[in-house]
Amino acid sequence: MASKKKKRALITGINGQDGSYLAEFLLGENYEVFGIMRRLSVPNVENISHLVDRVKIYDGDLLDESSIVRAIQDCRPDELYNLAAQSFVKSSWHQPIFTGEATAMGVIRVLEAIRNTKPDIKFYQASSSEMYGEVEETPQTETTRFHPRSPYGVAKVFGHWTTVNYRESFDIFACSGILFNHESPRRGLEFITRKITYGVACIAEGIKTSPAVNEEKESLVKNGKIKLGNLDARRDWGYAKDYVEAMWLMLQQKKPDDYVIATGENHSIKEFVQEAFKCVGVTNWQKYVQIDKRFFRPAEVEVLQGSCAKAKRVLGWKPKTKFKELVEIMVKADIDKLRNK
Ligand code: GDP
Repeated sequence: MASKKKKRALITGINGQDGSYLAEFLLGENYEVFGIMRRLSVPNVENISHLVDRVKIYDGDLLDESSIVRAIQDCRPDELYNLAAQSFVKSSWHQPIFTGEATAMGVIRVLEAIRNTKPDIKFYQASSSEMYGEVEETPQTETTRFHPRSPYGVAKVFGHWTTVNYRESFDIFACSGILFNHESPRRGLEFITRKITYGVACIAEGIKTSPAVNEEKESLVKNGKIKLGNLDARRDWGYAKDYVEAMWLMLQQKKPDDYVIATGENHSIKEFVQEAFKCVGVTNWQKYVQIDKRFFRPAEVEVLQGSCAKAKRVLGWKPKTKFKELVEIMVKADIDKLRNK
């Protein structure tokens, strides 16, 4: 009996946190997986080093539509997940135009490539809770009005509405997943969760000045302290590995739509710090943290909390990993990494 043809998925940003988890998930679902990755002089492939023999990677960039077209023409995917972006909010004030090019215009380039080459591709856009910014209601749902507070948030709003428009105008199966913050041991060190768990791991291992650099290009732990900004901001943090399954589920439905993916809980940065230090038996965490103005933002998103009721109802998705468990996973992974080095 002839075997069923494998489905094909193309992932932009395959080497990022979400790209790598999604690639693993899709391989587990028996997909052929393809990825687009930017060429860098020092390749950033750590997250997918264990997958390189099972996925095909194209050189490409969201700033170069021809590279996207070429990848689509070569692998003829059934599904395309657009996870590439300039994804760090703080950098978006330093590089607002580049952020717009990649995070906003990048979406329209991918959708144009789909429209012109293979319009039956099912498309997933990585939208973000940063679109809510100065929140107009809590919890935030698919119908909450957007009020972005950074060039990143503005660019994501453009990407979201572009996705909706291509669905309504050209009948493309395009879904927007409004994912709240989602973290993991693969999160970049510039994000608050990883900055904390890596810092805690260094301190627990007796490393007073760490080799890894922070956004200000200095040691992330210096003289036994981690420098942080606003500890009062609150986020709805989930586990990235749980969240990629929701992306896939959206593309398996009869009709394309938009969904909030969140845990429904919020915690402050301070609680995250406290919990992470607790994992290594430290209760007087204040001794190891220094507040530094450089890590504050020109405009803050004070609190985010999403409702995934629609995703639960329609997709049958719900978050599996609780806050404390997530912090533990991340601290443990950072300690293991330091010990193995
Ligand atoms: P974001 O929600 O996409 O901006 O994710 P981040 O992990 O970068 O930031 C989450 C929150 O942590 C924001 O409200 C930041 O202001 C706050 N924060 C406080 N100190 C820091 C810090 O040192 N680095 C980062 N990245 N964020 C910090």
